[in-house]
Amino acid sequence: MINTDPQDYIDGVLAGKRRMLSKTITLVESSLASHMVLARKLLDSLLPYTGKAVRLGITGVPGVGKSTFIESLGITLVAEGHRVAVLAVDPSSSRSGGSVMADKTRMEKLAVEENAFIRPSPSGGTLGGVARKTRETMLICEAAGYDVIIVETVGVGQSESTVASMVDFFLVLMLAGAGDELQGIKKGILELADAIAITKADGDNIEKAKKAAGTYQNALHFLRLASPTWIPPVLTCSAVEKTGIHKIWQTVLDHRTKLSNTGELAQKRRQQALDWLWSLIEEGLKIRFKQNPDVKRRLPQIAHAVEKGITTPTIAAEELLFFLDKE
Ligand code: GDP
Repeated sequence: MINTDPQDYIDGVLAGKRRMLSKTITLVESSLASHMVLARKLLDSLLPYTGKAVRLGITGVPGVGKSTFIESLGITLVAEGHRVAVLAVDPSSSRSGGSVMADKTRMEKLAVEENAFIRPSPSGGTLGGVARKTRETMLICEAAGYDVIIVETVGVGQSESTVASMVDFFLVLMLAGAGDELQGIKKGILELADAIAITKADGDNIEKAKKAAGTYQNALHFLRLASPTWIPPVLTCSAVEKTGIHKIWQTVLDHRTKLSNTGELAQKRRQQALDWLWSLIEEGLKIRFKQNPDVKRRLPQIAHAVEKGITTPTIAAEELLFFLDKE
């Protein structure tokens, strides 16, 4: 039996109690109708207490050093008196059953810190569904007093742009390659970055990392920048030797100061709220469409007719969408 009194959750979250925080997030992640009703009430009540955290997104291919970096940054921030929540968006976890991120024992040192809270990616559903839960979890963590929220993604499908659209600062971690720095980078990823950090800049790798940083910095010159105020810097760091980590955090803070002063940060968050609204509408419409009994009945035949070239996709889509009007 779950506790159905919203006030208990609200009080628990606002008091920063971890157990209640976890339980509230579990409710938000649930797809049971009764849980969803309760979750909506909770979110409504907690909303006034949200929005004050630094929201930092981090991406990079598996093995680039995300966990090690986040742990190192997290421990530094906690030592400075911050409260840090680490969330993940990993849409692959819903398909394979096992998440890349959850399988590994990750961030053990950070996990035991009193002022750190680590939550693996919600599983189940589409990227849109996973992202919605992570966004709501972010708000709950803010209400619980976490002032730095780190959202991590491995970059499956569109997950980088999804995470970029929910944070204030998007950090892209990169490995120094052997002169082929610009290969294998997913198109558009550099345009999302507020900073790039070349990881594992230690030992024999220091020179390579510096060289890679130069190459990326040049590449950035050719991009359309998101902000007139901010040129994304390319930095190097070593999470193992703990070098360059603080500089990256300082960069996040500089960005914050600059974009707050110009009003761009507030504008960015307003735009993100609107984008979120639209993605919820699109997601909701898709679900309603797929659950519509007439659509369910007709879809197999119509899809077949499209495949056979008996009808065009345009006409077929129109016929199916028409069923929504009749709801
Ligand atoms: P993730 O898959 O992106 O989360 O990467 P991990 O944090 O799990 O790191 C992948 C591997 O790189 C591990 O074997 C780490 O020990 C190693 N690694 C991570 N950060 C550094 C670093 O700063 N320097 C070096 N030399 N190795 C690192």
